[in-house]
Amino acid sequence: MKSVELIDVTKTYGNGSVIIKNLNLSIQSGEFFVLVGPSGCGKSTILRMIAGLEGMTSGTLLIGGKPANLLPPSKRSLSMVFQNYALYPHLTARENIIFGLKAHRIGKDIVEKRLREAAEMLNLAPCLDRKPRQLSGGQRQRIALARSIVSEAPICLMDEPLSNLDAKLRARMRSEIRRIQRKIGTTMIYVTHDQIEAMTMGDRMAVLHDGTVQQIGRPIDVYNHP
Ligand code: ADP
Ligand code: ADP
Repeated sequence: MKSVELIDVTKTYGNGSVIIKNLNLSIQSGEFFVLVGPSGCGKSTILRMIAGLEGMTSGTLLIGGKPANLLPPSKRSLSMVFQNYALYPHLTARENIIFGLKAHRIGKDIVEKRLREAAEMLNLAPCLDRKPRQLSGGQRQRIALARSIVSEAPICLMDEPLSNLDAKLRARMRSEIRRIQRKIGTTMIYVTHDQIEAMTMGDRMAVLHDGTVQQIGRPIDVYNHP
């Protein structure tokens, strides 16, 4: 299991605008950590830096205590649910979900078992043989979630993973994601705008504003002491 630490991390984009300013965050192994903050405050950028999809301008990122610059994205032991889902358009839902497992040479029986369980949990069985363009936004989002869940990766990054689901499924997924995270001991970094998700899922949360942490703590304390 793996901790994630950002130490004095700064990120600027080409035009010189500072997105993340001297950010310090220490997320423990097995912790469910929620990130909230206004649109454009850099939440997705933080996830992408942790995933290694984007560089940091300065600072240190430690994954499992090791400097992440020594780890290419494929060695960071993480799965990510992107806001735009990032599915392969030419693959079916089933192929998208198990793509990473195949690449990691996970046995066929295990792949089938995980696929079946995830598809059932997410009501995806009727969609499995369709391609992303034949599916609704909510169905695509569920495929992205299933892909992350079947990976059983030690670190999981989720960017508003329930935003496109109806209220009933969203409620069910709040507890399912939490249950699976507990069972596997996943280190979870979870971006949301939803106060119910933060309150019911997070061990701790951080409120970001202008590229820095404005508040951090247990959700109940953060919401009670604005
Ligand atoms: P959030 O996820 O909190 O909505 P983002 O991390 O997506 O915020 O974006 C933070 C800021 O960085 C936004 O102002 C966005 O416009 C800007 N930004 C994101 N990606 C780029 C990029 N590749 N080049 C320049 N600016 C970017
Ligand atoms: P590789 O370069 O070894 O094929 P990947 O990029 O497929 O690595 O996977 C990198 C990490 O992401 C792995 O540690 C794994 O746990 C996780 N992962 C694997 N497959 C997926 C997937 N389909 N979706 C999300 N995360 C995945």
